[in-house]
Amino acid sequence: MTTPEPPAPSPLSSPLLSVRGLGVRFRMRGGRHVAAVTDAGFDLAAGECLALVGESGCGKSVLASALLGLLPGNAQTTGSALLAARGPAGEVDLLTADERTLARTVRGRRVGLVPQSPAAHLTPVRTVRSQLAEVLRELTGVRGPALAKAVEAAAARTAYPSDHLDRYPHELSGGLAQRAATALALIGDAPLLLADEPTTGLDRELVDRTADELRRHTDDGRALLMITHDLAAAQRIADRVAVMYAGRIVELADADSFFGGDGPRHPYARGLLDALPEREFTAIPGTPPELGDLPDGCAFAARCPRATDICATLPVLTPGHGSSVACHHAEERVDA
Ligand code: SF4
Repeated sequence: MTTPEPPAPSPLSSPLLSVRGLGVRFRMRGGRHVAAVTDAGFDLAAGECLALVGESGCGKSVLASALLGLLPGNAQTTGSALLAARGPAGEVDLLTADERTLARTVRGRRVGLVPQSPAAHLTPVRTVRSQLAEVLRELTGVRGPALAKAVEAAAARTAYPSDHLDRYPHELSGGLAQRAATALALIGDAPLLLADEPTTGLDRELVDRTADELRRHTDDGRALLMITHDLAAAQRIADRVAVMYAGRIVELADADSFFGGDGPRHPYARGLLDALPEREFTAIPGTPPELGDLPDGCAFAARCPRATDICATLPVLTPGHGSSVACHHAEERVDA
């Protein structure tokens, strides 16, 4: 197996989260394996937002589940994901920590999650008010008369309307469920927040408002890993961008140079941007390969306008020109 070059260092302080060689494989019937994530590596510092972008099914959400110990039983992980010590809490490897440690000291307290499917994440038989109150009691210790005000304040952070607090999850629209789940995730003010498609189901105004709230959360000295296919939201708040394709990070770049300047250096990343309506509105031809049947070489070759014979060998993530890129022809502009 090819070992990738170390990822581009974070421009900020020492990392709060340091991921190296993260791999997730699922054992399937008949002895088959699906490589959902392969050799992922990045650092994430306090005060930094890293946007992890890519098409559906590229492994983004599996990566987030791995960091929270929420993978199903047929998953095998490799590599490490070190969450740095903070205060009395020691360093922990999120990939090898036992379930008791994750449940008691990590989830919600040191790592918060805005889930991808908020409606499924909410408890169906309890109102939003009741769920916010329970998490507030558990994570902040607030009790008595102050609790009611704290519930309203928690809801207001994500523009969840106070006159909908007594609704049950099945009475919520997708957008309201998203806002409720985000409000729950922000309560613990965890040092690291994983937000998995946090703007799904929201109109543009609420996308911007939610993204800005997540940015404020980050500016307060926390770290945010935002998993999204919403490149506009990523552009709005991210410091750096990691692009995933077929389970691998293929480009890791500063957001300013990725969205402006010369743009991405990987042909797939360029294709993602060119597909935006406000840009060229040109879809990338073809479809991603099956994760259970990946080629030996570059997984993007069948769709890539720059593919040559050398692309039958696997490109590794290599630093240069302000970003790290896994492409044999990264220096060439796709539209050159
Ligand atoms: S390695 Fe080759 S096929 Fe893969 S993205 Fe680069 S040019 Fe395209």
